[in-house]
Amino acid sequence: MKIQSIEIKHISIPLKKIFKTALRQLETAENTVILVHTDEGLTGYGEAPPTAVITGDTNESVIAAVKLMEKKLIGLDIDHYEKILDVVGTSCINNNSAKAAVDMAIYDLASKSCGKPLYQFLGGYRDFVETDLTISMNEPDEMCRDALQAREKGFRVLKLKVGNDWEQDILRVLEVRKIVGDQLKLRLDANQGWTPKEAIRVIGTLEDKDAEIEFVEQPVKAMDYEGLKYVTDHVSTRIMADESLFSPGDALRLLRLRAVDLLNIKLMKCGGIHNALKINAIAETFGVECMLGSMIESKISLTAAAHLAAAKKNITMVDLDAAVLLAADPVVGGFRKELPFFYPGSAPGLGITEVMDLKSI
Ligand SMILES: [Mg+2]
Repeated sequence: MKIQSIEIKHISIPLKKIFKTALRQLETAENTVILVHTDEGLTGYGEAPPTAVITGDTNESVIAAVKLMEKKLIGLDIDHYEKILDVVGTSCINNNSAKAAVDMAIYDLASKSCGKPLYQFLGGYRDFVETDLTISMNEPDEMCRDALQAREKGFRVLKLKVGNDWEQDILRVLEVRKIVGDQLKLRLDANQGWTPKEAIRVIGTLEDKDAEIEFVEQPVKAMDYEGLKYVTDHVSTRIMADESLFSPGDALRLLRLRAVDLLNIKLMKCGGIHNALKINAIAETFGVECMLGSMIESKISLTAAAHLAAAKKNITMVDLDAAVLLAADPVVGGFRKELPFFYPGSAPGLGITEVMDLKSI
């Protein structure tokens, strides 16, 4: 089964509520969707959201990179998908979101051609995953209201966005913990918003006040591996790398330094499933568990991420709540959602049969 053409489309999906982190605000997901068509009539689906402040990728850069890859991919055989993924990986430097979009479409096709759902093609460790829900960074009152709503909807794990003012952050977390009680798990994501010393102060205070934080994601600047290690060495709460981790090489450096306790893999940072598997294998070797996270993605790439997370034993945490943050779901097929659980299902590949409302570029 050979690649015949790659179609590039645009999808626009409003969010239910403005998404606010220490890095950005977003009202509508404006993502690039790709369809890889084969000579046997099968189509592989892929998607890339432009997250310029994290990956450097924009819709324009994703489209240009996919066009660059397309020329090298036409005629290649899906049965040799390792070769195709090598071409994708070496087609250009960076452009990881574009690579991820093509990579997941290739995995979609490779597993479809074997008649297996992608998660079973990759290992099939479990049949479902549980996602957390992100609470945007707002005034403590609003975060408390959002957290209570999330608890009512059945979420058992909340990820609180913090990181713009360390004193206010302590208040945010303590207020939310007080209102939701001790049954829910709380994780924090500072999105690089603290200095190492601020991070130690915030986390230390939260430890003293028994806030029971599961882990803290990316407390300090992405480039500051020494700062990450300093924080990890000075608190007992586990620290997770997100923006500091793009490639398998980053994973190796972070873990050899013992700079963090956990890794957050996102397909858009590492360039897709092929590299995500390498990062997870490195982490597992170090005895470090991984979370599978996402950008503000539609059900296309979230389905790919959910399949990967379900497939692997060492991916023990899932943060794929973009599916809940979006106001519409134009994807037919893909995972089945029974919040807070996602079921990859038994359909071959990603199980996506159609994506509605695609726009020409
Ligand atoms: Mg993060």
